[in-house]
Formats: sequence, structure tokens, C-alpha cells
Amino acid sequence: MDAAKYIWMNGEFKGWFDAQTHVLSHTLHYGNGVIEGTKAYKTAKGYAIFRLNDHTVRLKESAKMTLMDIPYSVEELNAAQIELIRKNEFQGDNVYLRPLAFLGYGVMGVYHKGAPVETVVAAWEWGAYLGEEGMKKGIKLKIASMTRPANTSNMGKAKATANYLNSQMAKFEAIDCGYDEALLLDDQGYVAEASGASFFMVKNGKLITPPNDNSLESITQKTVIEMAENLGIVVERRRITREEVYIADEAFLTGTAAEITPVRIVDAREIGCGSRGAMTEKLQTLYFDIVFGRNKEYEHYLTYVN
Ligand code: PMP
Repeated sequence: MDAAKYIWMNGEFKGWFDAQTHVLSHTLHYGNGVIEGTKAYKTAKGYAIFRLNDHTVRLKESAKMTLMDIPYSVEELNAAQIELIRKNEFQGDNVYLRPLAFLGYGVMGVYHKGAPVETVVAAWEWGAYLGEEGMKKGIKLKIASMTRPANTSNMGKAKATANYLNSQMAKFEAIDCGYDEALLLDDQGYVAEASGASFFMVKNGKLITPPNDNSLESITQKTVIEMAENLGIVVERRRITREEVYIADEAFLTGTAAEITPVRIVDAREIGCGSRGAMTEKLQTLYFDIVFGRNKEYEHYLTYVN
């Protein structure tokens, strides 16, 4: 990764390599931490953070779900993220912001009450998550052998670090098998989400994406639904089976990092024409116009860092 100059930690800006924690930090052992993944685009008017407030609200809500009290307000965390981008004086690429709240040093054992909550925001320059080539031609998706954990034993709506063990295992398996990304089903066999992105497919001109019963409440998924509806595309939110994915006309993934990434193959089946489909390209173009500040209609989603 590309190091930046500063990391915001517990209210202070620290040097990139000085933002440290003890090896007995609670979260390192028991996995209760919450994160966000937010993106700032290099627009014609400088960096602009996309849907900053929505991401920060989700961070606070994730922490509430996992019984962690972040001692900063949404407004304070928003201000920290804006100032962090300013202070780092980024020059090159778009920037990824990683807010994190974790339990620090002082308490051992699973019971975490009393463990100090450490709050951090890092930011660094980051290119296309699934590769530039993938954005144009599409990626290969493998349905993971593991399912997304059931709602009865997990909190999939929290963007909790613990949930990423499941993501990590699925992603590793997919790449090891020669694919680019994993698609996870839920415990009933319906599509949940990819390891770090949401799933959409197109069939007979309709755009279909699963409800968030067993997946993160994705901000990009919401944006893409809004964009599609504004374009007059019929959007269905319903459960999707594995077989439906195989015979989709088009498929793509969405996420802050994944943006809109076309899918060309799922489990050895070519999807549609085997490359980026027409609706995918249309939505991708609109998405980039929005995040780069070229579309006035969606300007309210951008927070400019001046
Ligand atoms: N699902 C998972 C598991 C994710 O990690 C992400 C990335 N944050 C998404 C979906 C997409 O969420 P968003 O659009 O809010 O980035």
C-alpha cells in the first residue's frame, strides 16, 4: 500500500508509522472492531468525499450493534476525515478512507466492558479495487463453498471486522481457484453478496438485486438503485438463486471500492455476451460522472475538501 503522512487517532493527527497499538489490544484477540470504507475522488474542484455522512452514520450504528461506544459524534468524525485529506496533501490518485473503532489495551477475556475504544481514520491513495482491466472487461466470480453466516449467529449489517474472516476465506478460495472474487450465498442458498461488494444482475431489461436480509446495508447498492430508477429502469429487490445468476443477461458488483465492476464469468458459465453488458456500462458511466462531480443532480452526495 501507499503510505500517507498522517493518521487521525483518538482526536490527534499522528505520523503514519506512529499510529500504533499494543499486541494485547482486545480486538486483536477477540475480533470486535468496526470499520468503514469511504472514498474521496479527485474531481475538477479538488477532492470530494462521496456520501461521507452516510458512511459515518453506518460506522456509529455498527459500533452500537457490537456494543462499542465511539466517543466522537458523527460531526466530529466527518470533520476528522475532511481534515485528514487536507493534511495529507494527496497529489495523485483517488483516496480511500478507513475509519476504524477497536478495543485497545487493558482488559483480557471475552467480556469487553471496560476495554478502551480506540478511534482511528487512515487515508491513502488507492486505484481500482478489482483492477482497471476488470472494470472494462469484467471479472470472474466463483460461488464460495462457505455461506454468509446466518442471521441467527451473526450481525451481517454491522460492518464489523469479525465478519471479514468469512469474506477473507471466500476471497482466498476464489483467487486460488483462478477467479477474481467470491459470491457468497446465504444459509438458505440465495445470493447474499460478494466478499466486499453487493451483487446485481440484469434479466430481460430488469435490474435485480437481493434485499439486505443477509448482507451489509450497502451505500453504493442504494445509490445504484436510485440511479437506475431515475433512468426509468425497473428495479426488483428479491431473492436470487444460483441458477438465475448463471443465466443472467448481465451481472455486476457494486461497492465503495468495487464501484461498478462488471462480471463476465460465474463458475465457468459466461454471463450474457461474456464481457461488460450495455446496462452495466450505462450505470458505470453515470456512477463515475456522479462521484467525479460531473452530474449536478447528485452533487448533494459530495463533500468537497477545500
Ligand atoms: N458487502 C460487503 C461485505 C462489503 O465489505 C462492502 C464494502 N463496504 C459492501 C457490501 C458494499 O458496501 P458499500 O457500498 O457501502 O461500500
